Amino acid sequence: MKCCLVSSLLPPSPLFLFHIPRLEVQLGNTCLTCPRSWKINQKLHDGVCQRCKEVLEWRVKYNKYKPLSKPKKCVKCLQKTVKDSYHIMCRPCASELEVCAKCGKKEDIVIP
Ligand SMILES: [Zn+2]
Ligand SMILES: [Zn+2]
Repeated sequence: MKCCLVSSLLPPSPLFLFHIPRLEVQLGNTCLTCPRSWKINQKLHDGVCQRCKEVLEWRVKYNKYKPLSKPKKCVKCLQKTVKDSYHIMCRPCASELEVCAKCGKKEDIVIP
């Protein structure tokens, strides 16, 4: 699976061929040569509840995840500290209140 033309133009190096199959096992069908999708898929959705984690993973999987271009305002401390898309509060606030940083509910939080 290729999502950038550049990757198909690159000559395959022994190192490249060696690394790809192993990474594909870890990341599924992610385009490994596209830095953008690479970065997003590397992202860990922690500090959120199981349901929100699934939603975020779904968004990443179907390329519907839009990273924030600038920090958003946290609903608790009212500072522009929210750096994750779709989150309503920052990490410190969410962990202090032991709630999900995305929906704000006290659910089964995924501990990093
Ligand atoms: Zn906060
Ligand atoms: Zn949640």
